Amino acid sequence: MIKFCSHCACPVKHKIPEGDSKVRACCPKCQQIHYENPKIVGGTIPIYQNKVLLCKRAIEPRYGFWTLPAGFMELNETTAECALRETWEEAQAKVTLGPVFTIFDVLQANQVHIFYRAYLTEPIFCAGPESLDVQLFSFDSIPWNDLAFKTVVNTLHIFKESLKTDFFGVHTGQVDQYYSWQKDDFIPNKC
Ligand SMILES: [Zn+2]
Repeated sequence: MIKFCSHCACPVKHKIPEGDSKVRACCPKCQQIHYENPKIVGGTIPIYQNKVLLCKRAIEPRYGFWTLPAGFMELNETTAECALRETWEEAQAKVTLGPVFTIFDVLQANQVHIFYRAYLTEPIFCAGPESLDVQLFSFDSIPWNDLAFKTVVNTLHIFKESLKTDFFGVHTGQVDQYYSWQKDDFIPNKC
């Protein structure tokens, strides 16, 4: 929660500004209103010969647990650039990016997690500064009990299921309640 004004350092007051409907951090001195919005996390599902590249986290939260390469979006960066950068930083891997695969609204953390499909052209990777280890896992040997985040568990689970039909689609929603869009689910003229 914001405590001080980032413009003039005065302690803020939490109140509903005129014409608004939500409580905001309002500066009584310079009148600045400080809005807080969800943070975007971008990542990839890097595939090489039917195996997926996972990183063992060297940082909190979830130190020592496995994750897909992902991290917070920077300013002046697209979600795709974020996903590519994080894949390089955490796994030292260069990937070719495909379409978006999952978008999860993580309300309890005020985050949105976006994972892109991706593939490695060569099996070249190693642990970056934020990883203890980086390995390729077949989908039958994923360390399910040692995965760092629910959005990673869901994304890998849906991906494993998608491999059976070779149809990947887009999957959106919350961690415990998501929807898999199929080919003909949304045709504007028929709605
Ligand atoms: Zn101020």
